[in-house]
Amino acid sequence: MTVPAIKLNDGNAIPQLGFGVWQVGNDEAAAVVEKALKTGYRHIDTAAIYGNEEGVGKALKNSGVARGDIFLTTKLWNADQGHDSALRAFEASLKRLGTDYVDLYLIHWPVPAQDRFPDSWRALIKLKEEGRAKSIGVSNFRIADLERVISETGVTPVLNQIELHPRFQQNELRVFHEKKGIATEAWSPLGQGKILENPDLKQIAEKHGKTVAQIILRWHLDIGNIVIPKSVTPARIEENFDVFGFKLTSGDHDTISTLNDMHNGRIGPHPDSV
Ligand code: NAD
Repeated sequence: MTVPAIKLNDGNAIPQLGFGVWQVGNDEAAAVVEKALKTGYRHIDTAAIYGNEEGVGKALKNSGVARGDIFLTTKLWNADQGHDSALRAFEASLKRLGTDYVDLYLIHWPVPAQDRFPDSWRALIKLKEEGRAKSIGVSNFRIADLERVISETGVTPVLNQIELHPRFQQNELRVFHEKKGIATEAWSPLGQGKILENPDLKQIAEKHGKTVAQIILRWHLDIGNIVIPKSVTPARIEENFDVFGFKLTSGDHDTISTLNDMHNGRIGPHPDSV
């Protein structure tokens, strides 16, 4: 199955369905990512702070899949923000990953208390100009953070990776992204597995003969999100990739819209406080 690609504002393209590896140990990552690549995933999402870049790098080498066919994302950790420290952190990530470029480099969190994200962004612009980060973007940025990097540098992030799932749909940010040509990438797209018992989602899943995880991933893809579900279980890695042979109805979409709760639906930390 060929995963659809989303065109980014710098002309590059990203596979809309990828594989996330947060909370996957460095040793385990090699086998798990290799399984994902064998299943057909061609987009891997890691981060310096996940501590598994070496394992991911091993999987890239062992899989037999050409590096050029894999879209690899990693992220700049908060403690390394700042212009020169970001450049050093990028070198260290490349070394651990065993590659000489990444497809996408993200600022992991804005960390407003440090106020170093505009300088970090200037470092990412340099990496993009050098061709060692093919595309550059951000994660957990709020509207004001996005406006600030755009107005200070004139360079718009290709995407913003944010918490987004049926309980936390982020419509305001999604509309802003669309206006600015920023793609929306959903982290914890399955709500970390905590929303899989929802009765409305279960009913939709039964109707289609699919699992709740597959229904949620199909919903993300339908509304244009890039998704990076994580699993270390081989059958689930396959299940989460098998989301292209069916369609949700507009009624299904209406039902899922009603699950949104921007006041109580957040699972991860608030970008104000990280
Ligand atoms: P997720 O929503 O992908 O859920 C993963 C969990 O759901 C698994 O651990 C498992 O318990 C369960 N699960 C997965 N597939 C399943 C299936 N088919 N059936 C039943 N249960 C299933 O959560 P996540 O790992 O938090 O998010 C995905 C990726 O997003 C991460 O691995 C990471 O790459 C990225 N992420 C980024 C940030 C950020 O700040 N940028 C934060 C969190 C996560």
